[in-house]
Amino acid sequence: MSCLFCKIASGEIPSTAVYQDDLVYAFADINPKSPVHILVIPREHIGSLAEAVDEHRPLLGHLMWVAAEIARRKGLAKGYRVVVNSGDEGGQTVDHLHLHVMGGRQMTWPPG
Ligand code: 5GP
Ligand code: ZN
Repeated sequence: MSCLFCKIASGEIPSTAVYQDDLVYAFADINPKSPVHILVIPREHIGSLAEAVDEHRPLLGHLMWVAAEIARRKGLAKGYRVVVNSGDEGGQTVDHLHLHVMGGRQMTWPPG
């Protein structure tokens, strides 16, 4: 197993946990781009959103719920952004599906 985020989910590589359950692990981004910047990943290795298949549909819904739950727990009542980069042109740099939960400042659109 060589995947960085699989190693983080298993605890082999340390991270700052924010939320965890049987299906999902969430942790602080090592290079935050906003005052709150959390990554939410499935414990199962899925390379990207593009690699998600029919059987992942409940898991994808759960990941989105966890993103909202983290935002509530972090007090992001004024708003926040959830981002999924998929593939090279999508800006994905770590090949394990992850949601970015970002907040604590005004977000701009489009992100670039
Ligand atoms: P992507 O560009 O693939 O959408 O996002 C990858 C994110 O993972 C980046 O925001 C980057 O800062 C974060 N990241 C990369 N390596 C590590 C790491 O070892 N630990 C943590 N906590 N975050 C990481
Ligand atoms: Zn992985």
